[in-house]
Amino acid sequence: MSGTIMALKSDVEDILLRALQGEPLGYDDCIRLMRSRDVNAMGKVANILKERLHGRRVSFINNLILNYTNICITYCKFCAFYRPPRHSEGYTVSVEECIRRVGTAKALFNIRQVLMQGGHNPDLGIEYYESVFRAIKARFPDVAVHALSPSEIDMIARVERSSTREVLARLKDAGLDSIPGGGAEILDDEVKSVISPLKIRSDEWLRIMEEAHMLGIPSSATMMYGHVESIEQRARSLMRIMELQKRSGGFMAFIPWNFEPNNTEMQREGLVRYPSGGMELLKMISVSRIMLNGLIDHVQSSWLTNGVGMAQLALHYGADDFGGTLHGEEVVSATGARATTLTEERIVSAIRQVGMRAVERDNMYNIIRYFD
Ligand code: SF4
Repeated sequence: MSGTIMALKSDVEDILLRALQGEPLGYDDCIRLMRSRDVNAMGKVANILKERLHGRRVSFINNLILNYTNICITYCKFCAFYRPPRHSEGYTVSVEECIRRVGTAKALFNIRQVLMQGGHNPDLGIEYYESVFRAIKARFPDVAVHALSPSEIDMIARVERSSTREVLARLKDAGLDSIPGGGAEILDDEVKSVISPLKIRSDEWLRIMEEAHMLGIPSSATMMYGHVESIEQRARSLMRIMELQKRSGGFMAFIPWNFEPNNTEMQREGLVRYPSGGMELLKMISVSRIMLNGLIDHVQSSWLTNGVGMAQLALHYGADDFGGTLHGEEVVSATGARATTLTEERIVSAIRQVGMRAVERDNMYNIIRYFD
């Protein structure tokens, strides 16, 4: 092991050695890793840590993305998807249409998960979500409902004049299995005041996640990087997720993804003109795996914002999950970035091309099929 490290001759060699020995790492380590240019050394160690947990297995899930409404009153500057109320392009998918789409995706792709996310629509009460979840559970009991990030939960609570805990409990009762980690962006209020001034603050995101975990609703966690944040703010954001995980244990996966500025207000204002690029993606995947070792077992590669080629590389830098097929995706496609749906065959082939073993998983990261 130390031979591996000596061969690396890295400026973060001491941190990498401690990571390989399973020692917990802290904020200063995270800053040094994020500042280092030795992405290959970090990637090698991240890959070793990944293989200790997952061998050469890479998972993916057959899923449907249901962007149920694009009407939103939060106007995030990084978002190309939303439309304000009464806009001619605004839409809300009816309960019946939601169920029809799930049925079609089940029949065509044998999906295991519906990932349901949308805008903060003040006209939607909790009954809408309860009706959709109950109908999915009644008709497609083996399709998991992975829905509503913390800011959407907060919006429902405001519409209902209720607490977020009560909303979560009611939604769980209706069939909510887990919640996606969207809306974290960077868990730093200085950053949020620039990119999403009307969205819930960092403490609220963490509180709602903790409430969900305590109610037995696990989640993923995300980080959207590559916009106005500093390295320190990025590192603090990751540390806050690690701190909550130590208390709740409810995060199943971490998904770092880079900001796509195309068609957003931030690009129009000249705040960010281009995405942060492939090297930064590989570094963030590696740093995530190294920092989260022993805390969060799954790190997802970001094919949606970086493309299949970069996502394949990420599998050699610590990522163990390829994400979903994402049938029906509309949020990232609004940036015009690239195709936002993959077939199962395409994902399996992409995983095999880099010498890994593809496995299909369910919503809780259990392996349900090997492709050998
Ligand atoms: S990111 Fe979500 S909350 Fe923000 S404007 Fe877009 S749809 Fe609304």
